[in-house]
Amino acid sequence: MIEERIGVPGIGRIWAALPEARIAGGAVRDTLRGLPVADVDFATPLSPETTMRRLADAKIKTVPTGLAHGTISAIIGRRAFEITTLRRDIETDGRHAVVAFTDNWREDAARRDFTINAMSMTRDGTVFDYFGGQEDLRVGRLRFVGDAATRIAEDYLRILRFFRFFTRYGKGNPDAEAIAAITKCRDGIRKLSAERIWSELKLILSAADPGAAIALMQSTGVLPLILPEGTDVQALNRLLAYGAPADPLMRISALSTENPKNLGARLKLSVNELVKLFVYRLPNRLTPAATDVQLRRALAEDAAEFLITKTWLAQTGEPGWPELRDRIANTPRPIFPLQGRDIVKTGIPAGPLVGDILNLTRRWWKFQGCSADFDMCLEKAKLFAERKA
Ligand code: ATP
Ligand code: MG
Repeated sequence: MIEERIGVPGIGRIWAALPEARIAGGAVRDTLRGLPVADVDFATPLSPETTMRRLADAKIKTVPTGLAHGTISAIIGRRAFEITTLRRDIETDGRHAVVAFTDNWREDAARRDFTINAMSMTRDGTVFDYFGGQEDLRVGRLRFVGDAATRIAEDYLRILRFFRFFTRYGKGNPDAEAIAAITKCRDGIRKLSAERIWSELKLILSAADPGAAIALMQSTGVLPLILPEGTDVQALNRLLAYGAPADPLMRISALSTENPKNLGARLKLSVNELVKLFVYRLPNRLTPAATDVQLRRALAEDAAEFLITKTWLAQTGEPGWPELRDRIANTPRPIFPLQGRDIVKTGIPAGPLVGDILNLTRRWWKFQGCSADFDMCLEKAKLFAERKA
């Protein structure tokens, strides 16, 4: 039984209730690759109603998550498995399809996007591969099922999905037919919603190395369609070459030359993402030439994590940046030792003056290098208080 190899608890129970079902799409692809499988999707020739009844008989909870297009979710423990009745396309409009149910496995595979995503597998581990997906997976060839231009015109999202899967499974030169079709059909990207574009772009930019995919997006003319206000591919490539973390926000911050406000509106970023983008675009203050005092001053203001992020985006060809990051990570964050109540204890009545004195003292502490201790700071605070009196 293949479920031991996949290692996702619960799939054996689904197969016991639905022996004719097969796992399909990404789960087959990643099982064959020996990669961990996150989501397991099933396909079945049974109607959604029959599927629900069978699962109910097996005491498996079901939710009709997408009944209209044939998908129900089976809930086992904390996991949800999508089980979809085999389908074929009746009509497409560049994004959505009108589908009909079928009991023909090959028809269902034929409406999937890429050969490596079009395989299915039964419980005994038999792989059904109608379009040469195993061989493509082995050699790293990402290929549309059927005629590339036709498949793109059915659903323009497939252009971005091509780049997404290329980052993960593509090796060497891309499929020439796919690239020609993408170039020809690229304007269809305008049909996609901003949310869709951003969710795909984010996946592309989360890959270990999105460099080749981004270069292809540029040469096919797709990149300027999704980031029309300007891009700096060199800046992204530098970030990749330095080995910066695979953070999609950091990468888009380098790739796009647009200001965060406009970029956020264009791609409909979430509030959290927008905040990150603004932060990433704040000026960097630390370079490899930074002294220990400058380092402590920076850490007094900002957390190490933030400062390190800034160094990735500011890094240039000069040496010393990795060492700078080590220094930032290994320097304890200086904490200004005085609080308002310490000033009050010296006899200053609580009020705005306390804040003023605290600020002056903190500024002195920073100027001095963030190393003065409590007593030294309190002495200084008393001096400021006298001067204010
Ligand atoms: P991931 O591991 O990234 O989730 P996945 O293969 O599971 O990869 P999904 O986007 O979850 O990708 O889609 C599941 C399957 O559904 C795909 O493998 C593919 O067979 C099919 N599919 C999804 N979106 C499309 C599409 N726009 N056009 C054609 N087939 C699609
Ligand atoms: Mg998936």
